[in-house]
Amino acid sequence: MSSASDKAAIEIRGVSRVYGTGPDKVTALDGIFLKIKENEFFTLLGPSGCGKTTLLRLIAGFDFPTTGEILLHGEDIAPLPPFRRPVNTVFQSYALFPHMSVADNIGFGLKMLGKPKAEIEARVAEMLELVHMTKMRDRQVSQISGGQQQRVALARALAPKPKVLLLDEPLSALDYKLRKEMQIELKRVQAETGITFIFVTHDQEEALTMSDRIAVMSTGSLRQVGSPWDIYDRPAERFVADFIGETNFLEVEVASVTGDRASVRLRSGREIPATFPDNTTPSGKVTIVIRPEHAEVVEPTDAATLKGTVESVVYLGTDTNINVRLDGGSLFTVRQQNSRSGSCGVTEGQGVGILVSDDVAQILRD
Ligand code: ATP
Repeated sequence: MSSASDKAAIEIRGVSRVYGTGPDKVTALDGIFLKIKENEFFTLLGPSGCGKTTLLRLIAGFDFPTTGEILLHGEDIAPLPPFRRPVNTVFQSYALFPHMSVADNIGFGLKMLGKPKAEIEARVAEMLELVHMTKMRDRQVSQISGGQQQRVALARALAPKPKVLLLDEPLSALDYKLRKEMQIELKRVQAETGITFIFVTHDQEEALTMSDRIAVMSTGSLRQVGSPWDIYDRPAERFVADFIGETNFLEVEVASVTGDRASVRLRSGREIPATFPDNTTPSGKVTIVIRPEHAEVVEPTDAATLKGTVESVVYLGTDTNINVRLDGGSLFTVRQQNSRSGSCGVTEGQGVGILVSDDVAQILRD
């Protein structure tokens, strides 16, 4: 899927950013090491206040690290002011000039750089085409929709041909349907231009849909970096598993480890296979995660992995969540796709079995 190369576009080496002193001290970033590849759609994902925007601001040059360095294609960019960095930013607020035309907004940065008129016109035409806005070129920005403004902001940021584009929650002001449409658009534009995109969001679904790789952040540090599949199906720790979607946690005991697979013993004594994070050797009591859609409700026979009683059934449109109180006491959610008949076939209070698919349980790091 990804056409990202292995060369680092951006390398973050031991970067920290501390604001204030004494009781007001805030460590916004705490010793970050990260390589973002050329031509990659890379997402910084995490809850509000985890340091995503701070990291973007350091790359853009609007702020400076307290310690550490940032390399762009191998060169330390610390001495470069923002306007000399081959980096541009798309802000959440778009920051467009409302009374200027679409075309003048897109060409504004190039004009400031003193580019010749003919070159600006050609580049603006190219950008209008890239974001499918050619027909709107003479409209005032105040007369176009939010989604169209987003396209103009993107075109304006790409016009000076940056090597890296920073996008700080650019879709958060759009409604759900438009956001979905723009996610596809952004992905297309990134693939067509081959520019490295560093995208900030706190929306896990958005991150999973768009990214080649995701860095999950919490309180100034990176918790896990990997492909959407790694992050969703092989979370290394509880924070990542929890943040990235609904999941079930079960306390189990490691029965054996062979190569990169373990066998874990459930409370019932039954053993199931499980994977575990790189550079760990699981032993003793551990927690495993199983996503709700990786299990199904079955008859409560010995073939079932787990057994319990249905506590609630929650209709979600395309799916239904069946919450089962396990015999061991904890709650386990199974997500089942709805059929046309609309009924998921189980009712509250019913005794059921749960069949966990092979190879879906993941052991968390301590
Ligand atoms: P959000 O999603 O809400 O934008 P974020 O993940 O982008 O959050 P940052 O804006 O990077 O988070 O902030 C990280 C931490 O640093 C927060 O605790 C914030 O309050 C603090 N912080 C950011 N800028 C400053 C500043 N100029 N002075 C003091 N503290 C700051």
